[in-house]
Amino acid sequence: MSAPLREPLPAFDPLRVRADFPLLTRTVHGKPLVYFDSANTSQKPALVIEAVDRFYRQHNANVARAVHALSEEATAAYEGARVALARFIGAGTPDELVLTSGTTMAINLVAYSYLQPQLKPGDTVLVTQMEHHANIVPWQLVCARNGATLKVAPISERGELIVERFVELLTPEVKLAGVTHVSNVLGTVNPVRELARECRRRGIPLLVDGSQAVPHMAVDVQTIGCDFYAFTGHKMCGPTGTGGLWARRERLSAMPPFFGGGEMIREVRFSGTTFADPPHRFEAGTPNIAGFVGLGAAVQYLERLGMANVFARERELLAYASDALRSMPGLRIIGEAPDKAAVISFLVAGAHAHDLATLLDLEGIAVRSGHHCAHPLMQFYGVPATCRASFAFYNTTDEIDRFVAALDKVRRLLV
Ligand code: PLP
Repeated sequence: MSAPLREPLPAFDPLRVRADFPLLTRTVHGKPLVYFDSANTSQKPALVIEAVDRFYRQHNANVARAVHALSEEATAAYEGARVALARFIGAGTPDELVLTSGTTMAINLVAYSYLQPQLKPGDTVLVTQMEHHANIVPWQLVCARNGATLKVAPISERGELIVERFVELLTPEVKLAGVTHVSNVLGTVNPVRELARECRRRGIPLLVDGSQAVPHMAVDVQTIGCDFYAFTGHKMCGPTGTGGLWARRERLSAMPPFFGGGEMIREVRFSGTTFADPPHRFEAGTPNIAGFVGLGAAVQYLERLGMANVFARERELLAYASDALRSMPGLRIIGEAPDKAAVISFLVAGAHAHDLATLLDLEGIAVRSGHHCAHPLMQFYGVPATCRASFAFYNTTDEIDRFVAALDKVRRLLV
């Protein structure tokens, strides 16, 4: 693969980096915004916004459909984003990366194109207790159609996957295992290399949901050794409606198309259609061209920051916030795995998560409250909802101080 377009910055300057994000200067309810909802969607640096703007002002055309200059420019920009993304996640070649609208679409593609054609009654799909609905419901749907069932690997009270149980559950009926790389609720980083090794030993394909990993750490899909890796662009400084599915070329080549339409064919006749090679076979219709142009710019931006810097900075913020919150009376942190990304789910005894989030919003602080698209995880902890503060490299310790002070204030009002 080609080298990164720009060298990583030698040192990470949090305030300089923060200035790249125009939205972070705004106020909410008359207070400076503190944005702690990056696990939901990240903010976008100016150069991503400008790349999208520039595309529409200067290059807009459909991809791969015309020979005129604009179409060639649009195609080059779209395919350039694929090259950048493939490099960013360590794919062997850009052809191994299907561009999708996000993780949800990527997992559904695997469910319907890879799994459904071979799933039989009695087969199972193994997932974990900490999955996002996007890594549960597609499997439930194909299982229901084919008379197969879903099995669930348990987690500990601290929010760690019980790896021995996961491995025990990898029985011959399991036709695919799905696991999140990083939990969007607990922050737990799962040992995906080890899980992939165990799956490989048994000939069971492993899908890793990388939604919460790719934005926060250096990911190399080939080193992980999984079969499918899904991720989403809007959590990694890119536009919404972008993302990807990585799988090895042989795997993608053996999969039939899921969506049919323009761009995914070789030849269409009423007597039968032949299909394009992967990845285009899975990209029917006009894609989110401008979105991928923006995501390509986001990848260059993250490469320039250096993912090691991003990772280290976010771990600092996590440690700082966790220390401050642990001493707050009545506060319970959900998810205490030792290897944890910068996500803190919490509850305050006697206060509802939505009330906490609403009052924090009045202080200008954006945190998410609710089930975080992880009902089974809420059921495991016996709670309807949590509050979740999630940090990104553009946050600061001053913001954490404001958040902790505000939380202390609203806690006293509610309890
Ligand atoms: N998986 C995880 C772990 C997530 O956090 C999310 C988004 O919140 C998704 C999947 C779904 O991503 P998208 O809605 O972008 O498809």
